Amino acid sequence: MTARRRNCDVLIVGGGPVGGLLACLLARGGLDIALVERGTRKASSAPDGNGDTRGYALAAGTVRLLDDVGYWQPLVTAAEPIRAVHVSRQGDFGSVVMDSKSQQVPALGQVVPAVRIDAMLADALSATGVERLEQTALETLEAAGDERREAVLAGPDGRHRLAARLVVAADGTASATRAAAGIEVQRRRYAADALVFDVRSARPHRGRAFERFTPEGPLALLPQPGGRLNVVWVAPPEVCEERAALAESERIAALQERFGWRLGRLRAAGPVARFPLELVRARRLYDRRMVLAGNAAHGLHPVAGQGLNLSLRDVAVLAGGVLAARDPGAPEVLAAYAQARKGDIDRVATVTDLLARGLPLGERLVPVALRRGMLLLDRIGPLRQFWAEQAMGLQPLPRRILRGLPPVPRETGTPASTAARTGEGK
Ligand SMILES: Cc1cc2nc3c(=O)[nH]c(=O)nc-3n(C[C@H](O)[C@H](O)[C@H](O)COP(=O)(O)OP(=O)(O)OC[C@H]3O[C@@H](n4cnc5c(N)ncnc54)[C@H](O)[C@@H]3O)c2cc1C
Repeated sequence: MTARRRNCDVLIVGGGPVGGLLACLLARGGLDIALVERGTRKASSAPDGNGDTRGYALAAGTVRLLDDVGYWQPLVTAAEPIRAVHVSRQGDFGSVVMDSKSQQVPALGQVVPAVRIDAMLADALSATGVERLEQTALETLEAAGDERREAVLAGPDGRHRLAARLVVAADGTASATRAAAGIEVQRRRYAADALVFDVRSARPHRGRAFERFTPEGPLALLPQPGGRLNVVWVAPPEVCEERAALAESERIAALQERFGWRLGRLRAAGPVARFPLELVRARRLYDRRMVLAGNAAHGLHPVAGQGLNLSLRDVAVLAGGVLAARDPGAPEVLAAYAQARKGDIDRVATVTDLLARGLPLGERLVPVALRRGMLLLDRIGPLRQFWAEQAMGLQPLPRRILRGLPPVPRETGTPASTAARTGEGK
């Protein structure tokens, strides 16, 4: 039985970083937005966060984007600047170092805990007055004439129908919205999971990020404030399972053996979470009055720390296009978005996948790099260039439109709604 019906301009399914940021930007641009999230969001005052142990490496371009739209300041105290990135291979001498000085910038990027981004967006959503439907999931998408697409949603108080001029799938790699629109995906499960947790080191990290390629998979240590580092440790699923079950001291001893002693003794500094890794690519980015953004469009291996950076560029381009249009779901708006995003997504997904499968980047180059050690990578233009460019992430974005948004509204403390507004809204 249908509980309620309403219309809105844009319905966003998925309240992760992509859905959350997009909702804030479009609402500030004057559109009537509904945001549907299967789980619940926690505001910054929540003491326990949401259990996500990841520290996100945000490229300099992402930081600039967040700053342009007024959402970087609330994150500054939680962020650690990346001054240098050290790339090495276990068993080889030497490492490739990219530093902010050689790129002539104060920092290559910033590391921010996922829970802090989540909390910042929860606060921002409350302040912008976006209608949030929590513990609510999309069930199906139906036609609603030429002007709208109707979503059937299941929440705590039954089913509702929401007819939107545009439906955005921001519901992650297993997107139900994408499936409901019949958009197929290319999917490859890597023979790997990632264990993610924080450590402290005896020697200061001094803003250095470390990416170490080991025979079982890449191992990254990202600098965080307060002398902590976020570990992303990729290995076959059965190895991750064993390590996750180890006593903390044994797990850290195994980590130390693989990472080495360049930061002195490592100590555990928080809980462990495990993430299965896969490549997911949507075959197309839009359908009639619906569009994909973020992980719903492309789920990547975390080896290069690019998934969220790429996703937030989707948000910027989509928001720019929608805010400049009369009709947010017009076919030409969606086609322009897909066209604008294709190159960036193809490039980042392809190179990330190559790195994930063992640093090939051209079969001919690998044996040379492996034989002579990582120092040779310094001379492999495409790889070095990729690391530098992606660390910076300074691709062109519709900055003029985004910077022209009204200022960030002050916190109103509007609670999240668990039910759709009644009546024919628009
Ligand atoms: C181990 C690891 C480390 C990473 N590190 C980095 C990094 O350093 N830098 C970087 O740029 N990227 C990184 N990433 C990638 C980053 O996590 C993703 O790119 C990012 O989470 C994408 O955000 P999203 O909002 O599109 O999807 P998600 O974060 O998956 O959010 C989707 C949301 O949709 C909700 N949802 C799902 N289904 C439904 C439904 N049917 N109805 C309603 N709601 C639904 C979910 O509850 C969730 O809140 C990492 C990923 C992993 C796995």
